Amino acid sequence: MLYPQNFDVIVVGGGHAGTEAALAAARMGCKTLLLTHNIETLGQMSCNPSIGGIGKGHLVKEVDAMGGAMALATDRGGIQFRILNSSKGPAVRATRAQADRILYKAAIREMLENQPNLWLFQQAVDDLMVEGDRVVGAVTQVGIRFRSRTVVLTAGTFLDGKIHVGLNNYAAGRAGDPPAVSLSARLKELQLPQGRLKTGTPPRIDGRSIDFSRCEEQPGDGMAGGVNEGSVPVFSFMGNQAMHPRQMPCWITHTNARTHEIIRSGFDRSPMFTGKIEGVGPRYCPSVEDKINRFADKESHQIFLEPEGLTTHEYYPNGISTSLPFDVQYELVRSMAGLENAHILRPGYAIEYDYFDPRSLRSSFETRQINGLFFAGQINGTTGYEEAAAQGMFAGINAALQCREQEAWVPRRDEAYLGVLVDDLITKGVNEPYRMFTSRAEFRLQLREDNADMRLTEVARKMGLVDDMRWDAFSRKRDAVSRETERLKSTWVNPRNLPATESERVLGKAIDHEYNLFDLLRRPNVGYAELTGMDGGRFASDAVSRETLGELSVPVIEQVEIAAKYSGYIDRQKDEVERATHFEKMRLPDELDYMQVAALSIEVRQTLQKHRPETLGQASRISGVTPAAISLLMVHLKKGG
Ligand code: FAD
Repeated sequence: MLYPQNFDVIVVGGGHAGTEAALAAARMGCKTLLLTHNIETLGQMSCNPSIGGIGKGHLVKEVDAMGGAMALATDRGGIQFRILNSSKGPAVRATRAQADRILYKAAIREMLENQPNLWLFQQAVDDLMVEGDRVVGAVTQVGIRFRSRTVVLTAGTFLDGKIHVGLNNYAAGRAGDPPAVSLSARLKELQLPQGRLKTGTPPRIDGRSIDFSRCEEQPGDGMAGGVNEGSVPVFSFMGNQAMHPRQMPCWITHTNARTHEIIRSGFDRSPMFTGKIEGVGPRYCPSVEDKINRFADKESHQIFLEPEGLTTHEYYPNGISTSLPFDVQYELVRSMAGLENAHILRPGYAIEYDYFDPRSLRSSFETRQINGLFFAGQINGTTGYEEAAAQGMFAGINAALQCREQEAWVPRRDEAYLGVLVDDLITKGVNEPYRMFTSRAEFRLQLREDNADMRLTEVARKMGLVDDMRWDAFSRKRDAVSRETERLKSTWVNPRNLPATESERVLGKAIDHEYNLFDLLRRPNVGYAELTGMDGGRFASDAVSRETLGELSVPVIEQVEIAAKYSGYIDRQKDEVERATHFEKMRLPDELDYMQVAALSIEVRQTLQKHRPETLGQASRISGVTPAAISLLMVHLKKGG
């Protein structure tokens, strides 16, 4: 049957990429259809129930700054929040939350169901409708044909998915869900370059069988015994503490010599070590057998016991992801303190799946081979909910822009972690599941969690992604930051109007000449709070009066303070950014035949011919393309070659 309505954007897959893609396209006014295996699993967390962390939290804040769902759903479902790296500089500070997976899913589903322009439909997609070199829709398992102008594919770990537990394996998309076999075959037929990757998950444990008295308690921030008691962090720029449900602690136990011995005893039945699994796994999130094998000298590994929710006894033992046979899993779990009588609710497993080489995508995430077809999420070789959500929103935006016949939106590496993620994927590709780290961003001083809204909300508003409520809150904050910064810069203290005692208290000595408050704030030991005594205008100014700022005062002050403290570094980084953007602006013609650029080595010509970068900046980041080759290419372009 041909469905009687046509759509602008069809999103296939209701995971973290798919839900953000569908929400973004619909927010931008496109008639959007989200097609997924099962409406009950919208927003499902396949692995651990946690959102954020270093680099990942930055992505979540960026998605939020552009009106996305992940941070708000986490605020509504989060049962433990922590600010990681809180004693380090603001660039690497990151929010991480433990979520109740049921509440999280419910929040995502509610947002989807209440989003205007968005339709949901439950069916597996088995085929794509392609006419010439353009996708025109998707066909479901029972033959319903949905026509659309663009399709965003976010099939996660489901394409030809195969689960391994010991030497047993079976086809699945993840435990309890079917694989996408027909769609995988169809994509292979379309000759999109692809490969296999793998990821894994630990066995889950019934909390009633855990002896918590033998584990170490780890409270979240804001909880009794945690840092900043009474003040639980929030994820969304629109979030607040009142949204959070009851908070819960995590627990810590450790592997020991016996655990390691049990794990080694299972190596001969490990699908990883016996070659049953061909796909490469995430180096930064290895299975416990991989850790014991690679770091043989390490006597113990820390294992976090993380609650899966408020209405379940299920615990996620973070650190023992495994595909060893179940009998080995049973013994290894029970060898650890507190888990001697543990009952396993679900076995751990590894899953292998198809991914597509992201170097074959345009910088908008549209495939080069098939116009109108976009890929996002795990299918692009990444791992993680946050990476998936950011890509999903990005692909949804670009599918919507294409429908509006507008140019693609691609943030630069200095504008967003999303820009870093997209650029890394399309220029470097992946040889293992890709996850975000702050170290991937060369301009991380300006890509902080705290200023994600300052970097992205305005551009998102222009594209139609940000509603009036968020825009008003953002505008008030932005204006207050700028007013307060100006006020500090024009408030002067000098030996005549500043008592020596006050100066000594704050600065350690009496001042000898005139300073403005912004300059004083740049000093390492001087915070905004310390300036109160010398800042007569503080509460007189409407920029910071308690009445006008209300609950926004803390984020406003944070921005002012960071701007002052890091202004020197940030200015220096801006110079570097300017130099880098020069290359980013130089576009390489679509029709350029690199094989004819005689000055380049054959290897570089072949590499460029294969990857076809869109700008000189992208070309410079492709492995094997040297700075000398970039200079030669520039000369070639200037000559009009
Ligand atoms: P998914 O969340 O997988 O969602 C895919 C969606 O597409 C699902 O809703 C599915 O039903 C739907 N779908 C697929 N094919 C079709 C089709 N043909 N028709 C209709 N609907 C379809 N990440 C980490 O960061 N660390 C980890 O340790 C980790 N371990 C993992 C362990 C396991 C076992 C699994 C399965 C995943 C793990 N992940 C881990 C990855 C994390 O789950 C993913 O990165 C993230 O969920 C990817 O989001 P996504 O939206 O791309 O895909």
